Amino acid sequence: MAELDAERTPGGAVLMDGNRLRDELVAELRHRIADLGNPHVCLATVLVGDDKPSQIYIRNKRKKAEEAGMVSRHVELGAEASQAEVEEAVRDLAGDPDVHGILVQLPLPDGLDAEPVLDLIPPEKDVDGLTERSMGRLVRGRDGHVPCTPLGVMRLMERYGVETSGKKAVVIGRSTLVGLPQVLLLGRKGCDATPVLAHSRSGDLAALCRDADIIVAAVGVAGLVTADFVKPGAAVLDVGISRTADGIQGDVDFDAVESIAGAITPMPGGTGPMTIGCLMENTFNAARMLGALPG
Ligand code: NAP
Repeated sequence: MAELDAERTPGGAVLMDGNRLRDELVAELRHRIADLGNPHVCLATVLVGDDKPSQIYIRNKRKKAEEAGMVSRHVELGAEASQAEVEEAVRDLAGDPDVHGILVQLPLPDGLDAEPVLDLIPPEKDVDGLTERSMGRLVRGRDGHVPCTPLGVMRLMERYGVETSGKKAVVIGRSTLVGLPQVLLLGRKGCDATPVLAHSRSGDLAALCRDADIIVAAVGVAGLVTADFVKPGAAVLDVGISRTADGIQGDVDFDAVESIAGAITPMPGGTGPMTIGCLMENTFNAARMLGALPG
């Protein structure tokens, strides 16, 4: 692993600091937008209902968009909003030439179906990268937006010198939000890792992971990845979030693993902030795809 401008854990692993990298990314976007003469770049967020964590996520996303020199537009609908009302709000944003990125905060309240809502977002504006068409583009290797959380994992590995070419990777969790696109990103040309997709039926997870140079844990089971999962020097990236009586915990037992790993993300402060950083990156790219940037 290359020597880097990076903090290390007490046990000597490179600390893949997501807050720091997100701040670097936001500052870089701010400079790029300023260098282009401050064109109008707009991220629209849609929040339905009064879920507290969703409100916090949206607030953070809007704040970072403004820090990046973008315009943040927000549409909020009450928990009693109908399917038709939510769809109408998203349809309006889809058709508005002043809006470049659309993010619908999920999950929607019970009784609302997210799929037809997401289907209304054109691929160029789908900065969350979660729609069928964006996923299709990722599989086909076409230009499009990649889901923010797995993209953030890739950015952390690039920034902190984790080599991927020819390396074995295990991704634990197979959701379309994280695990599945993560495997596609790790295995695609240019990254060139050899990924294994593990899940609840995979059997001996520790044995699978012990063979891996890279572990990405996206499960939601606190402390699942223990010392016996980790090959010395492996990179360990923790996506899982469990809200416990002791606060937020990741899938990785950080204290047990940090002295074995070569690089590790903290939780919180690792993959979470990078999800937001990559949303900003995708929004900038959306404006470029839509011809809103000069040059
Ligand atoms: P999900 O849809 O619930 O998927 C969880 C996956 O974990 C499933 O594939 C499941 O396997 C697998 N799994 C469950 N228990 C397991 C076990 N004991 N051993 C091995 N695999 C197991 O969740 P998600 O949406 O992908 O999110 C995963 C975690 O990441 C959650 O904690 C979520 O809060 C967090 N998250 C974090 C960020 C971030 O920015 N850091 C962003 C998004 C999500 P089966 O398919 O076999 O059921």
